Parts: sequence; structure tokens; C-alpha cells
Amino acid sequence: MPPHGREATLLPADHNQPRQPDSTAFMCPYCEAVLSNPGAAQCDSCLRPLPQKGTPVLRVQFPTGELKVSVGQHLVLGRDAGQSPVASTFTQYDNVSRRHSTVWLDPSGTAWVRDEGSTNGTFVNGERLPRGVEAPLRDGDQLRLAADVTGTVQLN
Ligand SMILES: [Zn+2]
Repeated sequence: MPPHGREATLLPADHNQPRQPDSTAFMCPYCEAVLSNPGAAQCDSCLRPLPQKGTPVLRVQFPTGELKVSVGQHLVLGRDAGQSPVASTFTQYDNVSRRHSTVWLDPSGTAWVRDEGSTNGTFVNGERLPRGVEAPLRDGDQLRLAADVTGTVQLN
């Protein structure tokens, strides 16, 4: 007797992947559809051309590593690897929240940060952001998480 239902165990590839949190997905900067292929020339939902190489990139230089954010990418900063794809940058800082802030770059090249209800606060140039408020980031700004984790914003 042949093994029963062997083919049924071969699930499509995307069933094998853990679901990515929406906050880390690449989204169309126009219609915010999640892009299955961020390198595509156009959004497969609204069909508008997507930003290509040569568009601005946001970098935040922390003592423990440099974070890089492309247009359309929302990057969650925090200590929990389940919440933040860059958690390893912050694991050594106990006062950084599991899900601390989000940084992103809009299609016009403006960078933004939003505090996600962190315990110890998100600061831009020393000023604490009210929870949930979106604040612009400029080249050279100091982005601080909690008391002592400071990154320098680089925007080109
Ligand atoms: Zn779109």
C-alpha cells in the first residue's frame, strides 16, 4: 500500500513561513498594500510605480549597530525578536521596551518616528515624544530610546 496522502504534506511555501508582523512588511507607499515582491517595478495592487534604487534611505547609527530603512518599510525597534526584526541591537538594554518605537520613510523622503507606548520613552534631540505621535526625523537628529540608547539619524 503506498503512503497515504504524502503530497498533502507538501504545503505551499508561504504556509511554512511564520507570518511576519505587518509593521515590518514592505508596503506600497501609496495604497499601503503589503508587497509580496518589494523589488517589483510597480505595486500589484494600485499599479503605481514603486520607488527604485537611488531613492532615499534612512539610517540610524546605534552603538550596537546601524539600522537601515527603505521607503515603504516600517521598522519596529524593540527588545523582543517577535516584535522587532532588529531586536538583537537592543537586547542588552533592559530599559528598552519589547516594542518601543517604529521608524519609517515616506515616499517624499521624510523620515518619521512614533513611540509605541514604551515604558521609558522615545526622545528626539532630548524631547520625549507623546505616545503614538508621529515626529519627523532629520539628518543629524539624535534618536534616543529610554535613558541611554542613542542613535544618530542619517538621511540622504
Ligand atoms: Zn499600491
